[in-house]
This record gives sequence, structure tokens and C-alpha cells, in this order.
Amino acid sequence: MTDVRDLLDRVSAPDGDGRPIHDPATGEVIGNAPEATVAELDAAIARARAAQPAWEALGHEARSAALNAAADAVDARAEELARLLSREQGKPLNGPNARFEVGACSAWLRTNAALRLEPEVLVDDGETHAELHYRAVGVVGAIGPWNWPLMIAVWQLAPALRMGNTVVVKPSEYTPLSVLALVDVLNEALPADALIAVSGGRDVGARLASHPDIDKVMFTGSTATGRRIIESSAGNLARLTLELGGNDAGIVLPGTDATAIAQDLFWGAFINTGQTCAALKRLYVHDSVYDEVVEALAEVAKATPMGNGLDEDNVLGPLQNRQQFDIVNRLVEDAKTHGARIVTGGSPATELGELFYPITLVADIADGVALVDEEQFGPALPIIRYTDVEDAIASANRLDVGLGGSVWGPDRDEARRIAARIESGTVWINSHGGVHPMIPFGGVKGSGYGVEFGVEGLKAVAVPRVING
Ligand code: NAD
Repeated sequence: MTDVRDLLDRVSAPDGDGRPIHDPATGEVIGNAPEATVAELDAAIARARAAQPAWEALGHEARSAALNAAADAVDARAEELARLLSREQGKPLNGPNARFEVGACSAWLRTNAALRLEPEVLVDDGETHAELHYRAVGVVGAIGPWNWPLMIAVWQLAPALRMGNTVVVKPSEYTPLSVLALVDVLNEALPADALIAVSGGRDVGARLASHPDIDKVMFTGSTATGRRIIESSAGNLARLTLELGGNDAGIVLPGTDATAIAQDLFWGAFINTGQTCAALKRLYVHDSVYDEVVEALAEVAKATPMGNGLDEDNVLGPLQNRQQFDIVNRLVEDAKTHGARIVTGGSPATELGELFYPITLVADIADGVALVDEEQFGPALPIIRYTDVEDAIASANRLDVGLGGSVWGPDRDEARRIAARIESGTVWINSHGGVHPMIPFGGVKGSGYGVEFGVEGLKAVAVPRVING
């Protein structure tokens, strides 16, 4: 079996020092994460600032080559990274989980290496010749969450490095070791101080966002923290990309074949055991197919194994932390008091471990109940019956978040017409949550602003410079 000891030795705090990090499946301590002080963060930002001009001056070709070499380094350590991620985050090795996440890191690095952002000719009419060029912003602060810690770190750092920025990464305090290990591996291929990881608590995140020498903040996390980062940007005028929480709705139209969509619906909702920003979090199903859809989802749930992520059979894992476990438990208990019907699950799976909660399908529930209105970020899905599609569209749009959404039905044109009326950054048809390194991704309303991925993602970590004349 691949050992993660070497990676842990490279990044852990000395014995007796740092913050103990627990395996959410077993409660075991897997290592100690260094806890940086604000002074250490300041020193890291100064180093990143000093390294930036030379990194930008290398030019696009050399930086692309470095990103490809960094992807090679990730591939060479993929199994170790996946195992460390599984132990720290809880997600299984198999399924759309730890090995998949490490693979996505390499794919995003390579795609960013291959992207081209050429100067645009704006006006060329004989009198005026104006071009729009893009250059690096400077030093980018990358602040991430605990659900997809490696992939989201790469989503932030790959385009930023590609454009010639240097980057200071602040991982979530729940999953620092795997991100520190990833950055250490990436740094096998990058020049000194182009990419620095600083592990610490919320105080370190707050300082990074408000630091006068940070030019851009890439943030993925909760809407509440996003608001604080916006406030701090009044001080340092940092540009922001904010990927915040969501409460994605899915609408299943009449005539849909429930068994044909059940697998995709299930994974749209329960990828990473529901701990995914753009997961399906409220499902609106037409009365004519409601019972079949609930039944088909329950069949998939029964056949999908949950447990310790290092067991090759499992594809669902624990909640990553007690706080998230308590949110899911509270929302399901509250739904019960409102008369909702528990189809599968419905109470903690303590036989598997303290932080396990089973796939919980909650039927006969309505808008206004907290499980529908609040982001559960876990394995509990409310399934709401509707009779008029106009009501389902109004329900999808009634909340103040808008990251993703989906429409499911046999008629693609009809589904697309409805999709055009959903207020979210992405609407999928007959699928939910798939992302692609060339397709911009971002939210509207309380889900944040700015997009990541593709050429638009490069522009988001660049500043325009017009050459006129
Ligand atoms: P969180 O906001 O609690 O923490 C995210 C990060 O922000 C952590 O690294 C934390 O240390 C840091 N932080 C805390 N206070 C800060 C401050 N004042 N200034 C700067 N940084 C600070 O979020 P979380 O609980 O880790 O993640 C879960 C949330 O993230 C969910 O709401 C989920 O929907 C959202 N999320 C969104 C996306 C997306 O792409 N839109 C992706 C994943 C998660």
C-alpha cells in the first residue's frame, strides 16, 4: 500500500507543535499542521512580492512549461496525494472522489498551460490603433475551503501562475496537510517563491485578504466569509473572485424516465457525500413522475456503499467535520418536525463512525422548511412535488443564491427554454455539477462574482493594459 508518511514528513509541524488534524472516518490524528503567525504570513507575502517580476518576465512559454512540469510532479505523486486527501478530508479513494480530485488538479494545470490570451485589436481605422493587452495583477492570495481542497487550490493558483502572478495559498484549517503537500509537490517544478502555502486559522485568512501587498484575492468558501473579504477589499482595493455558497435547484419535467436519470441525479446531489458547492441541493419533481423518481433514487442510495475512504469498495464517506455534521443532522430533524417523509437514512450512521450520516432522501417537503431553504452541504436531499412548472421555476429562483441549477426532461429544447429562466451562473440539462477547465464557472446573487476557468478565468487574474497609438 502506498504510504503517505513521506508527504506528511515534508509538511507537518514538528512533534508537539501545530494543530492536530483528525481523520474524519476514524477520529485518529494523522498529523500536525503548522500554524503560521500573522508575522510569518507577512514574510511570505514579501517573498512572493519579490519573486513576482522575474516570474512574469519569464514569459508565457516558460510559465506554461513550468505548469506542465508541475502537472507531471502531481501525476508522479498522485496515489500518495489521493491517500493523504482521503485520510484528511474523508472522501473515498474511488468514485468521483480523491483519485478523481488529484486527476483534476493535473488536468487543470495542463489546460491552463495550454490556454492562450492574445492581445486584442480594439480599433484599427487608419487614425487610431488601439490594442488591449493583459498582464499579471501582482501577488494573488488564494483562500480555500475543506470540501475539494486540492482541486479548488489548483483552480485558483493555476491561472494565476499562468498569467505571471505569484501566489500565496491559505488552505482551510480543516484540510491543510493535503494542500501543503500538493504545494510542496508543485514546487518541485516551480521557481522559489512563485507559490507559497501558509497554513493557519481564520486570522491568517483575514490578514491575507486585507494585506496591503495583495493585489487579488481568489476566494472559495461561505457567503459570510465572502462578505468579510469584500469589506477588507475596501482597504487594499484587492480585486476579488468570490465563489460562495449555493443552494442549487433541479427541476424534473413530466415525461422523464426516472430510472434513466437516477444515477446522474444521485451523483449530482451526493458527489463528495453532498459536500460540494454546486451540488443539487433541492429537487423539484413533477407530480406525474414524483413517486418513480423518489423510488429510483432510493434504489441507487441502497446500492452505493459508504464507509472509510481507504476501503476500495466505498464511494461515499463521512462528513468532514463536526460542525457540518451538526448542520445536516439539525436540518433533517427539523424537516421531520414539519411532517416530511424520510425515504432513506434520517439519523446518524454511528455504526460507521462518529461523523457518518447516511444518504437521506426527504420527500413530501415544501419551500419554507429549513432543509429546502438553507444550504445543507451534506447527504440530505429534499424532494419537492410540483404540478405547474411555473411554480418550480419560481421556487428555483426564490432564494438569494445562484451558483448552479439543472433541468431534467425528454425534450431538450423545452429544457433549454426553462434553463434560460433559472437565475444561476450555470444551468445543466440532464446532468448536474460537471465542470470543465475550458468552460467559465461562477455564481450570481449571494453565490459571488467573477468566473474561473478558460480564457475568462485568465482575464480574472490579469489587468488590462491598453496600448493606444
Ligand atoms: P469558510 O468561509 O468558513 O472558510 C473558507 C476559508 O476562508 C478558510 O480557509 C478560512 O480559514 C478562511 N477565512 C475564514 N475567515 C476569513 C476572513 N475573515 N477572511 C479571509 N479568509 C477567511 O467556508 P468553508 O466552511 O470552508 O466552506 C464551505 C462553504 O464554501 C460552503 O458554503 C460552500 O457552498 C462554499 N463553497 C463554494 C464553492 C464554489 O465554488 N462556489 C466551492 C466550495 C465551497
